[in-house]
Amino acid sequence: MNIILFGPPGAGKGTQAKYLVKKLNGYQISTGDILREEIKKDTDIGKKIINHMNEGKFVSDEIVNSLLKNHVFDPIKKEKLIFDGYPRSITQAKNLDALLIDSKQKINHIFFLNVNKETIVKRIKKRKILEKRSDDDLDTILKRYDTYIETTKPVLDFYSKNSNFHEIDGAMEIDQITSKIETFLNV
Ligand code: AMP
Repeated sequence: MNIILFGPPGAGKGTQAKYLVKKLNGYQISTGDILREEIKKDTDIGKKIINHMNEGKFVSDEIVNSLLKNHVFDPIKKEKLIFDGYPRSITQAKNLDALLIDSKQKINHIFFLNVNKETIVKRIKKRKILEKRSDDDLDTILKRYDTYIETTKPVLDFYSKNSNFHEIDGAMEIDQITSKIETFLNV
């Protein structure tokens, strides 16, 4: 089963992705984690993207798409992909469609965790204390939310007509969101 978790930064996609990984024996494909790893390893890509990431701006579609490809084609991860934070633009959504066709896969469920800006700001402030992420200061949070509204929201229109698209109230408690997701999984 392949799943996309979709929603603004701080909506709880990472938390639900980790649950789904356990439940379905899946693999979390977090482009945020993949990009942070490039920075940690100080690779050429890492050097290119560090400022963008710290400013809360999107990394170019070209870089993200190139890093994603190996995961989609990885035979171990096939049919067990839990996308967290990808796709975030129409270009990325179209790229994912093409990669899925080429690798003979499809998306079974798209979960849209919908949360308002106030709740997100509160949550990310808390996460900053817990995880010490350098891109979690308030200005960056607001910038990331604005980027989300501008670039990522159109992706909703791309997916929302699909019968496997499910909108979930992301302001609910973690367990309630998990239960809601489970009702669609039939496992
Ligand atoms: P996340 O961990 O998903 O909140 O992502 C953290 C940061 O990584 C974002 O603010 C972007 O700078 C970058 N990023 C993660 N995923 C993507 C993506 N799909 N496209 C572009 N930039 C991304």
